[in-house]
Amino acid sequence: MIRYALYCADGHEFEAWFRNSEDFDVQKERGLVECPSCGSFEVSKQLMAPSVRTSRKTDTTASGAPDFETLARQVQAHIRSNFDYVGENFANEARAIHKGEAAERLIYGETTSEEREQLSEEGVPCAPLPEPFTPTPPKKAN
Ligand SMILES: [Zn+2]
Repeated sequence: MIRYALYCADGHEFEAWFRNSEDFDVQKERGLVECPSCGSFEVSKQLMAPSVRTSRKTDTTASGAPDFETLARQVQAHIRSNFDYVGENFANEARAIHKGEAAERLIYGETTSEEREQLSEEGVPCAPLPEPFTPTPPKKAN
């Protein structure tokens, strides 16, 4: 996992995690990388790593992409029907699945930034969901 410092066309700075540099390109291409301040998709990387391995670049330009709200609704619906909501237990579940101790499935939930750092150190794949694509979590059973 790589944490990129990003900035949008309006100069807002924010951070997001990606599996690797290609993952950033893929997510950006799919319109999944959004400035949390203004919602702009004109997002660029501020490179922090001293050496980023560049591999073959697939130069594809987004065309015929659905408009943002449609896309956001589609992504939310997809997550709600295909992912298990595990709430604050996300880090434990993701780790258990990664180690094969829990049934392999798609999950979403909340982590603290410490948990996120730990997961990335352990090589557990996970990525933040940008706000507009995050479905309303199911009611917590308190
Ligand atoms: Zn912005």
